[in-house]
Amino acid sequence: MKPFFIFDLDNTLYPPEVPLWRAVDDRIELYVREKLGVDGPEARTIRKEYLGEYGTTLRGLMQHHNVPPTEYLDFVHDVPIPEIVPRRDDLREMLAALPGRSAVFTNGSESYAQRVLSALGVEDAFVAIYGIEFMEYIAKPFPFAYAKLLREAGVSGAESLFCEDRHENLLPALDLGMFTVWVGGREGESPVHAVVEDVCDLPQVLPAFLGNGRFRQAR
Ligand SMILES: [Mg+2]
Repeated sequence: MKPFFIFDLDNTLYPPEVPLWRAVDDRIELYVREKLGVDGPEARTIRKEYLGEYGTTLRGLMQHHNVPPTEYLDFVHDVPIPEIVPRRDDLREMLAALPGRSAVFTNGSESYAQRVLSALGVEDAFVAIYGIEFMEYIAKPFPFAYAKLLREAGVSGAESLFCEDRHENLLPALDLGMFTVWVGGREGESPVHAVVEDVCDLPQVLPAFLGNGRFRQAR
């Protein structure tokens, strides 16, 4: 068995102070306003409804308005990423020192993820990007994509660690036996395995994942 490290992208590989996700969120609202011809408050109401029912604005738009996913994704991810996202050498070093392969698991598109990883300077640190296309547009936290990811990567839940900033997105990973790390989360709020303030603090909690005997044969 070899450890496999899975990372969410937005507000996980970069901290929430970097306003990238806000920029994408503004583009989503603009898309809904223009596509459906509604004002800001109505767009927000519609998004809330779709989020509750389908998990993402995109799936609601696909279901009710026949929106082509590529058109939507190109529009909402059309933000000046290199101007917003700073390079992170600390992240690059942390990832390079991990004792296993790493992958990105994001509700964003794969090309968006690639652009963000390039801006961060970590585009070579991952063996795969599992984005919304891979998920067949059924986003986290629906369990479908988590199971598909494990199958595709050829690893078990017990071999995997998942870092993510949204608590609800960690729960299906927990159900599949992954070691769950809540980035920027609140201590003591079970049932995740570990909480770190920043993703670069991951090495501090690694002994709990690596040291319980399950990787003994691999080392
Ligand atoms: Mg996130």
